[in-house]
Amino acid sequence: MVNTTSLKTTKSEEIFVAAQKLMPGGVSSPVRAFKSVGGQPIVFDRVQGAYIWDVDGNQYIDYVGTWGPAICGHAHPDVIAALHKALDKGTSFGAPSVQENILAEMVIEAVPSIEMVRFVNSGTEACMSVLRLIRAFTGRDKIIKFEGCYHGHADMFLVKAGSGVATLGLPDSPGVPKTTTVNTLTAPYNDLEAVKTLFAQNPDEIAGVILEPVVGNAGFIVPEAGFLEGLRELTQENGSLLVFDEVMTGFRLAYGGAQERFGVTPDLTTLGKVIGGGLPVGAYGGRKDIMSMVAPAGPMYQAGTLSGNPLAMTAGIKTLELLQKPGTYEYLEKITKKLTEGLLDVAKAAGHQVCGGHLGAMFGLFFASGPVYNYEDAKKSDTTKFGRFHRRMLERGIYLAPSQFEAGFTSLAHTQEDIERTLNAAQVVLSSLS
Ligand SMILES: *Cc1c(COP(=O)(O)O)cnc(C)c1O
Repeated sequence: MVNTTSLKTTKSEEIFVAAQKLMPGGVSSPVRAFKSVGGQPIVFDRVQGAYIWDVDGNQYIDYVGTWGPAICGHAHPDVIAALHKALDKGTSFGAPSVQENILAEMVIEAVPSIEMVRFVNSGTEACMSVLRLIRAFTGRDKIIKFEGCYHGHADMFLVKAGSGVATLGLPDSPGVPKTTTVNTLTAPYNDLEAVKTLFAQNPDEIAGVILEPVVGNAGFIVPEAGFLEGLRELTQENGSLLVFDEVMTGFRLAYGGAQERFGVTPDLTTLGKVIGGGLPVGAYGGRKDIMSMVAPAGPMYQAGTLSGNPLAMTAGIKTLELLQKPGTYEYLEKITKKLTEGLLDVAKAAGHQVCGGHLGAMFGLFFASGPVYNYEDAKKSDTTKFGRFHRRMLERGIYLAPSQFEAGFTSLAHTQEDIERTLNAAQVVLSSLS
């Protein structure tokens, strides 16, 4: 365990300098580059349980968990053993396999809204496919998403709200044609009135509403009482579909995801992260009458060479089996509560303006007085202070998500002692943080 404040990262730096010449920004996905917290990212060598080792031999307690999949801990021996067995039978079939049936049954049994499911390879793919599906099913083009919610990088989702209550979408990224996003309407999270207005302004035109039922991609933000229920009613009243993007929250807030926890059942759900157990998997599913539109059962085309990959299905099945053991979610809740409340206490005692919370194995902390109901509120955080906090926690062997606007994740492998060690590090860091 690193206990000094002078982290030796020579090899990480060497590798990352080389990477920047080979790949844009030196990474395969942007947040990994540590741009929003400053400093160089550490380069990983291996992961096990709640820990990461970098190429310089430093060990860290990990609260990113490869962005969510590692809910049983990294490289769980049962998952690894199952993968070894599956590997001997080959890496890809491109044909039906019994593993798909097993994981599909598990997902259908667990997630209240899902009666039928289609496997894909990432959360992005799940969300872009479900969007096509809601448009196909309703014969409508417009969708409503919320500012600060992330649904992968497909063109139609790369839109944030303008300064008004509800604005027609303008693309966030060059390369996204305006014509692709004109049908993406946006509203502030937790603002039911804004959604009502959009429905009133676009009668019989809105195919559906998609959201993170608990936000993790603008920092950790919970739905206010009545928000999810209100969306359920509004969509029903207007002949629109409700989609929960549970790529992050699925099997993390509860075995049946946010929809089980909040008792609100959407028409369709997207999944990813946990259900692949660390291999690339996404899924979308929901009502049988809607899913029957998907090819080849129906006319809505969607396909994938590696979809339903036997290794990915195996890792997912084993991960869900581990999560089914009695007491897992109680344990996750307990340690995550201890961590989050501990962090808030330590930060407040040191005189910082902070707010935050947790649900299941997901948590967040903003350097803002709060409360945070939406992305606008989240953006009031002191992100430069977060950057300093992040770096100094890293120097003390604690790996947090390298952005103020990402949720944190715990796993079954995190021990009470890991949490205590994290809180001790936080106390040292926060008491001297300017
Ligand atoms: C991560 C995430 C996605 C995108 O998943 P990828 O596997 O990274 O493509 C979509 N929606 C939510 C809510 C996510 O957290």
